Order: sequence, then C-alpha cells, then structure tokens
Amino acid sequence: MRVIRTVLGDIEPAAAGAVDSHDHLFLTTPVLPGEELDDEVAAAAVLRAFAAAGGGTVVQWTPRGLKRGLPALRRISESTGVHVVAATGRHRRAIYGRSAETDLTVDDLARAFIGDIRERGCGLIKVGISYQAITPDETDALRAASIAHHATGAPIGIHLEQGSAAELVLDALVADEVPPRSIVLGHLGRNPELTRITAAAQSGAWLCLDTPSPRHPLEFDRLAEVFATLVDHGHLAQLLLGADTTLASSRANPLSFGPAALLHNVVPRLTHVLGADSVSRIIVDNPARAWASDQASERDGPAAREQRGRERRDLEGEQVFAEGVELVPVADQAALAQLGGEAVADLGDVLTGDGQGDEEPVAAGLLHDLVHLRRDGGG
Ligand SMILES: [Zn+2]
Repeated sequence: MRVIRTVLGDIEPAAAGAVDSHDHLFLTTPVLPGEELDDEVAAAAVLRAFAAAGGGTVVQWTPRGLKRGLPALRRISESTGVHVVAATGRHRRAIYGRSAETDLTVDDLARAFIGDIRERGCGLIKVGISYQAITPDETDALRAASIAHHATGAPIGIHLEQGSAAELVLDALVADEVPPRSIVLGHLGRNPELTRITAAAQSGAWLCLDTPSPRHPLEFDRLAEVFATLVDHGHLAQLLLGADTTLASSRANPLSFGPAALLHNVVPRLTHVLGADSVSRIIVDNPARAWASDQASERDGPAAREQRGRERRDLEGEQVFAEGVELVPVADQAALAQLGGEAVADLGDVLTGDGQGDEEPVAAGLLHDLVHLRRDGGG
C-alpha cells in the first residue's frame, strides 16, 4: 500500500486532488535577501487561494536548514484544508551561507533525513545539485538520500541547476538502487536543449516542470513546447508541474504567480495546447503516484525486509545465473555445510570465473549474502 506523507499524516494518493508539485511556502536563504518567505499569515492566504481555485495539495521543496516552517505548515494545512507535503534533504552549499547543515557527513545526513520522515512528517527528500556537476558534498547528500529512501520509501526530488546534470544524478541514484519511479527531476524545463530533456525522460524518472516566474521568466510558449515535446515522445505519464514560488514579492501578484495562479492561469493555457485529459494527468493522476511513499509499516518489518531481499536475489539470480546455475539463499554456514554446496563470499569472483560480462552492478547487492550456488542439477 502506498500513501502520501503530509505534514498532518499519511493520506491515500487519490485524496491529493489537484497538486502543485513544486513550491515554497516557507524559505529563507542569504542568496535572496529581502525576499524571505517567513510569513505564516501570508502563507495561509496562499493556501486559501489555492483551495478556492480547486487545489488539493502543495509539495514544498524547502529542505533542512532554510526555515522550512514545519510547525507552521501543520497549522496552515489544518486551517485551510490543503494537504502539504514537506521536504527533508539538503540544498546546494551556496544556498546556505554559513550553516551547520553543510558540514554533515553521509551518516549524519541519512539519520537526519530518516528522522524528518519518520518523526516530523516529511514526505520528500530534496537534494540540490550544482550547474553541470555534482560536488563532493552533493555526492554525500545523494548517498544519504538513497539510504533514507531505502529506509522509508520516500521519493527523492532533485534541484537541477538550470536543468543540467540530470544524467549524472540518475547515474548516482541508480547505482544506489533507487528506482526511477522514486526520483523526481526538478527544473529540467530550464535546460535550453530539448534533446537533453527528452534524454533524461528516457530514464523513466518523474519530470517536474516549473511555470514562468519572476526569477526564471521562462516564456509560457517555451513551457508549452517542452510539455508538448515530452508528450510526443511518450512521456505524459512522467510529467508534473509546479509554480516554484521563491520570492516574497511574488505574493503581491497572486493572479500571476504562485499555486493559485498555476490553476487559474497556467492550466487553462496548457489545456489549450495539450488538451484537458493530458493536463488532468499532469495535475492530478501523475502526482498521486509520484509523491506516494511505500508505507513505513510494510517496508520496515523483518518480514518485508526478508521478502525484498528474496525478490532482489530472485531477480539478480535470474539475470546472472541464467544458464543452469541457481542461487539459493541459506540461513548460515551450518545450513550450507549440510547442503554440501559452495559458499560464495564474493559473487564478483564467481562471475568473473564464469566469464560473464558486466559483473559489477549485479554483484554489488549480493556481496555479503550467504548463498548456496547450485549448478546444473547438482545438489
Ligand atoms: Zn524550488
């Protein structure tokens, strides 16, 4: 069973309604002086306007250390009836100025992310990545996000600076066995090259595009072009849309910018280009799946862990030992001795010995599993 984790608790994905898949109700960073989103009354007004326009859920991408306002989000979600998904995670170093967040190790980060999800109602792990490169501290944050994803089932949302470096991020997360259905690429529409955008879409990850905003005055025509191209290439089922409000001054123009404007301004224009059915999928159906986590109770129990381990071994065993060799997990050395089989401590060795190609990605998940290797009808 999958649920969307909101600041007020888990909801069924179907209850999310119309979703602004990337926005900010609270955000304070030294790179945007004088534009702090730190006003609870103003944030509540934004949610009320969104609800009046037919909105159901706002996904806030403000990660740790930037005054994301978790207690205030709970209050205004309750008072307005709009569901809010909050983020844990870490942004690019430059966004923080001087902050303890930027000095955390992978283990510290993973522990913090998991705590935010399990104890503080966060439902998204956001990681910020630099322009066309992943810095070492961003590599740490990605690794911690993977660990937290595997522990909680929460989706990972990526800030791609100017829509760049998507392929590097995907490589890193896929190497950590994060499934593309749990990865949301943000700001991809800011990449000026359509071919880079469609290439990233091939991964199967979610693509969250932003509406025009004062900081990123992407023309609506360009947004429509990116959407239309992705739909033409068969990626409708991966598309999401968000208003990504980052400036307090934008709130002075609620008809142009913000969650409500997304619904009463951008959606009708997009409907003209894509048709009502496609837009409804981008605003309602797709986000219901993209923002859902695997439920903690099911994921975290020993039975669920064992089941996942079995599935992984089945899958990988099939891929690797397709020709007459079966991989049988056993409980311990004694059980293995009873079977009279070979203990395999490092499958990389076995694979190399069998002359199989590209061993490493397959063997990586199995290195520490104790298995009985059964060959061609042998015992
Ligand atoms: Zn954002």
